[in-house]
Amino acid sequence: MVVVGGGTAGAVVASRLSADPTVRVCLVEGGPSDVGDDRVLRLKNWLSLLETEFDYDYPTVEQPRGNSHIRHSRAKVLGGCSSHNTMISFLPPPRDFADWVAAGATGWSYEEMLPLWRRLAVQIQPVAKKDRNALTEAFVASCHTALGVPVREDFNAEPFADGTGFFPVAYYPETGVRSSSSVAYLHPILDRPNLTVLTDTWAYRLDSAAGQVTGVRVRDKNGVESILTAGQEYVLSAGAIDTPRLLLLSGIGPAEQLRGLGIPVAVDLPGVGEHLLDHPESLILWEAARPVPPETAMDSDAGLFVRRDEGDPRPDLMFHLYQIPFTTNTERLGYDVPEHGFGMTPNIPRPRGSGRLWLTSADPRVKPALDFGYFTDPDGYDEQTIVDGLRIARRVAATEPFKSWIAREIAPGPALQTDEELSAYGRAAHHTVYHPAGTCRMGAADDPTAVVDPELRLRGLSNVRIADASIFPTMTSVNPVVTVLMIGERAADLIAGTLSSD
Ligand SMILES: Cc1cc2nc3c(=O)[nH]c(=O)nc-3n(C[C@H](O)[C@H](O)[C@H](O)COP(=O)(O)OP(=O)(O)OC[C@H]3O[C@@H](n4cnc5c(N)ncnc54)[C@H](O)[C@@H]3O)c2cc1C
Repeated sequence: MVVVGGGTAGAVVASRLSADPTVRVCLVEGGPSDVGDDRVLRLKNWLSLLETEFDYDYPTVEQPRGNSHIRHSRAKVLGGCSSHNTMISFLPPPRDFADWVAAGATGWSYEEMLPLWRRLAVQIQPVAKKDRNALTEAFVASCHTALGVPVREDFNAEPFADGTGFFPVAYYPETGVRSSSSVAYLHPILDRPNLTVLTDTWAYRLDSAAGQVTGVRVRDKNGVESILTAGQEYVLSAGAIDTPRLLLLSGIGPAEQLRGLGIPVAVDLPGVGEHLLDHPESLILWEAARPVPPETAMDSDAGLFVRRDEGDPRPDLMFHLYQIPFTTNTERLGYDVPEHGFGMTPNIPRPRGSGRLWLTSADPRVKPALDFGYFTDPDGYDEQTIVDGLRIARRVAATEPFKSWIAREIAPGPALQTDEELSAYGRAAHHTVYHPAGTCRMGAADDPTAVVDPELRLRGLSNVRIADASIFPTMTSVNPVVTVLMIGERAADLIAGTLSSD
């Protein structure tokens, strides 16, 4: 087996498959190892990893209705984004998986996903008491008082619903180490004789012939090139940006795009790179009345989920409380940068705008173009969600005990009140929580727009599967990392059912 991408899902696949000593697994990872590297392992350190050597750092194309300055962070290290994210870990609500089944993903219902959830090796629990500070406690209390939403001691204790509380997080509170897919799935088994992990090794093309992949072309950090071959299957787990990028570079994708770049077409697969999803969010920023206390798991320990639509059991507005002043976008718009500050981030759980990804060059070193289509849905649902969110955040801010923590609202600022003003600010200052997904969409086996079938098999080539966030048929209402881990578990099950020694 060759697994391309030792990230969130790829680490799970490699770990589970190599548990069978007769199966040889080669895991190819573009970044370095995280073993012994405290910069990566310490959960609290996540923000300092962005835009460093651990980040592929993808720009977006011009966003006429959104923020064109967003840079999409994607981790370049063993464990992938589970090694540099905040590891907020939710099991999605049942209706999310019902949407997947309705989109053609037979076998991916909530009930069928529950066994995978229960066997995840990462350690998930609500932020530990010792990591909770008074500001965040006050926030939770005010959300409850202002909006009447329940306080959730553990969001994962029952099917996901609206509420406020400390997040479930995958980490080890006693050490502050993240429970990434690398730490939980790979570190304990790195000495397996049937597992080879090639770090700092970049896959840039799949060779194919007669309806099969025949090898993966890779380049190591010294520029040495080689071809890896699998006896049985190739699994692509390079993530929602790099898996479609690798397919396109290999001539697997929309024929017209490929021909325009001089890339020979191996499989005309129109869905590759289409259906680019994300969770956009905006920000209300406050100056703190006094310094924020230091206890924290990762500076975004609690949140709020609100349900506006009575016809759907799922929340349709999410907020993180950022316990630090996140001012990248507000500063660019001319707002003050407080010495002590914090914010709430209205976030769209099921956005209606979506976009696409495509190549602009046949040169593997050139980053793909990403157009997220932020706020392009014709009925204005996404924009209205942000406006509603900013107003709801102001209600929480006007309610004690959170109110006493606030010296003033910096952005959008009290002068902005109308829907039009809040929308213009909210879209200009919006950011991402780095959840790209959907670019190799899973669908029914006879759906020509789908990229993989419900068994994760790539259309048109018989020995390749995809296991990562690119296969999402629709966006999950919650942060996606748990779902990606479950995709890794599922892929391992599907492959193990067909394997002989490799
Ligand atoms: C800053 C940040 C914070 C986030 N916070 C949260 C959160 O708190 N909760 C949550 O649920 N989600 C969060 N997310 C999102 C979540 O982490 C991702 O959705 C998820 O980890 C994606 O997993 P993946 O397996 O699809 O890709 P990845 O984890 O990105 O794995 C892809 C791997 O493939 C490697 N790779 C890529 N291309 C190649 C190639 N050509 N050859 C070899 N290797 C390659 C990469 O180096 C990487 O290791 C966050 C993301 C970021 C960036």
